[in-house]
Amino acid sequence: MSVIDILKSNAADYGIEISSDLSAKLEKYAELLKDWNEKINLTAILDDEGIAVKHFLDCLLVSKAADFKKGDRVIDVGTGAGFPGLVIAAAYPDVEVTLLDSTGKKLKAVENMAQEMGVKNAKVIHMRAEEAGKKPEFREKYDFATARAVAELRVLLEYTLPFVKSGGTFLSLKGASAIDEIDGAKNSLKTLGGKIEGINEFTLPGGDKRAIINVKKISHIPPKFPRVSAQIAKKPL
Ligand code: SAM
Repeated sequence: MSVIDILKSNAADYGIEISSDLSAKLEKYAELLKDWNEKINLTAILDDEGIAVKHFLDCLLVSKAADFKKGDRVIDVGTGAGFPGLVIAAAYPDVEVTLLDSTGKKLKAVENMAQEMGVKNAKVIHMRAEEAGKKPEFREKYDFATARAVAELRVLLEYTLPFVKSGGTFLSLKGASAIDEIDGAKNSLKTLGGKIEGINEFTLPGGDKRAIINVKKISHIPPKFPRVSAQIAKKPL
């Protein structure tokens, strides 16, 4: 079975439909991921089943946690090889997606893959999240932020919430540690004006646990946040 056949047969069990447009884009994405990975280390998951389930399906589960509308702005923080941001851009051509990462060579690959896939609604930004979050052109300009496999939740909130408009949502894609991470993020939530609005839990085919935590931005972030990297690392909220 091809990557797309594996994805389609599994996505149906989660009520996710894969359109022909999305199939074509993701088929190309899978091919390009393998090609680029021969040049730079993009992802350890490169077998067809893994790409279909642990990358594409996992990222498409955000559609169960968020209602993206035409014109919404989404920023994917620490996008790496484009997860979940490039998958969201492929699935929602009417949504404007920004793919941010501090590693330039990964972004070069992501920019090329987006172009080859025919994805026109994604752009890349090469910057650290805590630097971009201070800049007026990015601060509180997004309806949604997303992040997968970037940092523990209390740190991630300082990276991501500065980008989110008041009333917007940060979607944190987590594994089995989600509940523990929420417990550890109470102070961070309070300080940065975030409120847990919901947790959607899933079991991927194969048994891995996933959770998408919806964090609503309920007030403006105090100007001193995000702090510089060294301070975030030394004294996480
Ligand atoms: N989100 C992708 C995924 O799920 O496959 C990539 C995960 S990878 C383990 C973490 C990525 O986050 C790396 O590409 C790294 O460069 C990026 N990253 C880590 N800290 C960051 C920061 N403070 N600002 C921007 N990017 C960051």
